Amino acid sequence: MAKGSGVDRTENARKMLEEAVEKFSQTENWQQFLKGMRSFHKYSLNNQWLIAVQREDTHWVKGYRAWQDLGRQVVKGSEAIWILAPRPYTKEREDGTEEKKIAFRAIPVFAYEDTEPIEGFENPWEPPVRQPVTGDPEAAQRLLDSLFAYTAAQGIPVVIEAKKTSAGGSYTPADNSIWLQPYDPVEQARVLVHELGHAATYKTLTEGGKPYDYSFGEAVAESIAYVVCGEFGIDTTLASVQYIAVWDADRLRETASIVKDACSALFDWLDRELGEEAREDVAA
Ligand SMILES: [Zn+2]
Repeated sequence: MAKGSGVDRTENARKMLEEAVEKFSQTENWQQFLKGMRSFHKYSLNNQWLIAVQREDTHWVKGYRAWQDLGRQVVKGSEAIWILAPRPYTKEREDGTEEKKIAFRAIPVFAYEDTEPIEGFENPWEPPVRQPVTGDPEAAQRLLDSLFAYTAAQGIPVVIEAKKTSAGGSYTPADNSIWLQPYDPVEQARVLVHELGHAATYKTLTEGGKPYDYSFGEAVAESIAYVVCGEFGIDTTLASVQYIAVWDADRLRETASIVKDACSALFDWLDRELGEEAREDVAA
C-alpha cells in the first residue's frame, strides 16, 4: 500500500474495495445468487425476532413456494417457523367514509436447513460460503488487545460467547454493547472492527430521527473493517467484498465520508497505543 497521510491511505483502501466490489458484483453467478439473496432481508424487525426465537440456528428463511422458485424443496415433516404478514383492509365508518386498517395473519416459512435441492434445477440457491480472512495471528492479537483497551476506555461492553448462529458478532445500540463469537484472532479482529464500525457510526446514521438503514449500515461497518484490518496486515478482501455485495454494493460510494471519519478515530487510538510503526511496517 502506498505510504502517505492516514487520510490518503484510508481513501485509497476504500477505493480499492469499491472497485473490487463492483467487479465482483458484475459476475454472472453472483448476480443470480443476489436475486435470491436480496429477498431475505425484507423481514421486519418483529419478524426477525420471531424467527430468532423459534429457530436460532438459521439465517435463511422463506415460504414453501418461494423456496421452490429458488430451486429448493422443503423436506417433508419440517417444522414451520411462524411470522406475521400484514394484510391491509378497508373498513367503512358509520358516516359512510372509508378507513384503511392493517390486520396481521401468521404465515409459515421454512429454514434453509430444512430444504434440499430440486433435482434438475439449474443452480439451486446456496447460502454464501464464508470467505477466509488471512493475516499473522500474533499481529492480529496485538490489534485485538489494543481494540479491547479501546472498548474499555469508550465504555463499550464486549462479551465473547459461543452462540448457535452463523453470525460472528453483533452490536446492540440500546446498551452500546458488542457480542463476539469466539473465533481465532485473525477472524475475530475483523468481526470486532466491523462491530466497532457499527458503534462508531450508529449515531450519524440515525441523526435527526432518521430510521436506521440496515443494509447501508452493514456496508459502512464492513468498509471500516476492510480499511482498518488492511492497515494491520489482515486481508479481509474476499470476505468484505462478498459481504458488501450482499448488502449495499450500489451505495458504497456514499459511505466514503462516514467510513473515513470512523477510521481516522480508530487509527488515532491505535497509533497512540501501538505506535504508528505497527501499521507502517506491514503496509510497507
Ligand atoms: Zn454488521
